[in-house]
Amino acid sequence: MFNVNDIRKDFPILSRKVNGKPLVYFDNAATSQTPQQVIDVIVDYYSNYNANIHRGVHTLSQEATDLYEQARQKIQKHFNAKFSHEIIFTSGTTHGINLVANGFSSLLKKGDDIIVSALEHHSNIVPWQMLCESTGASLKVIPMNLEGELVMSEFDKLLSKNTKLVFVNHVSNALGTINPIEYIIEKAHQVGAAVLIDGAQSAPHIKADVQKLDVDFYVASAHKMCGPTGAGMLYGKEVWLNKLPPYQGGGEMIAEVTFEKTTYADLPHKFEAGTPNICGGIAFGAALDYMNTISFDSIAKYENDLLEYATKKLLDIEGLKIYGTSKQKTSVISFNLEGIHPYDVGTILDKLGIAVRTGHHCAQPIMDYFKIPGTVRASFAFYNTKQEIDTLIAGVKKAKLMLS
Ligand code: PMP
Repeated sequence: MFNVNDIRKDFPILSRKVNGKPLVYFDNAATSQTPQQVIDVIVDYYSNYNANIHRGVHTLSQEATDLYEQARQKIQKHFNAKFSHEIIFTSGTTHGINLVANGFSSLLKKGDDIIVSALEHHSNIVPWQMLCESTGASLKVIPMNLEGELVMSEFDKLLSKNTKLVFVNHVSNALGTINPIEYIIEKAHQVGAAVLIDGAQSAPHIKADVQKLDVDFYVASAHKMCGPTGAGMLYGKEVWLNKLPPYQGGGEMIAEVTFEKTTYADLPHKFEAGTPNICGGIAFGAALDYMNTISFDSIAKYENDLLEYATKKLLDIEGLKIYGTSKQKTSVISFNLEGIHPYDVGTILDKLGIAVRTGHHCAQPIMDYFKIPGTVRASFAFYNTKQEIDTLIAGVKKAKLMLS
């Protein structure tokens, strides 16, 4: 049974004060908070298991290896990958995207097209631009409309036999729009293109089934789903991961090294050069356990309720405009007060203990589309409450009064 008051007790940070006021944390799309259950796993790891993995015969190394590999299996199970070696530990979404982009540099040539969407985070734009520069491939963009939705009829027109790759996020971090990835994957596959889904913003809210989606690559970050920073995952279909060359060279990723020739380790180690973020990977597994105990269905239902409540109350404020009005949204609200810079609103809210994000949210093309410098973004998690939203509304009204 979902009980927000009980859930809040799991998050020690939620009882701290900021500027003398109880913290209202609405910057969850940037980084979520960490429950005690995950903090305990981190403390336990460094108190009892800290050792390097995979190559030690001693007990600590074997125990640390077991915990790390168990975490990989938890991630495999959560995203329903067919094999655990299809899960590559990364430092986060950005790392996973760059790993795939680098891998494709030897597979693309002039005349090939790659497609991204107008709703992407910079980390799902820049690596592909770099890939186009190095290979001569062209970057095509699925446009958006005023609701902040992708225009699928334009996507259909961009697809051709030249399309080799399609990259879209499942959910836009700047607007919260949920993109129709099932349609995108199906259509891209019809022309033989591979698809990477950036799940950074969806994974905390929607449980993805990579086999059901039939997606080729899927990336996410632990720190947006109650886990630590510096840890994340890349799922790749076995056939693709075997095809791509390694990303970085070093220890752990080799089978045999001589000065004449080096052979690479099997999956997943081929893509995991060097000592990884062992504790981060283990804590990522613990974070998934925690969220699954609450259940993603309950989380989505509760967050949708918060979204509806906050949207209605914010729209009652005269001169407030919400960007991203799709019916298909996660609990993210991007807004501005007429004639007032988002940074000023964010600063006043901070004085009231309310943490929101202001700026372009690493999605400048979206801001350019709306011809604005940025927005105030409030993003809710399952441990937030309607009472906190009332505090935000009062804060926005106060900011409006002070800055008008
Ligand atoms: N893609 C999206 C949609 C995101 O929201 C983010 C984080 N804001 C990223 C990619 C990058 O994630 P990370 O910084 O954890 O690598």
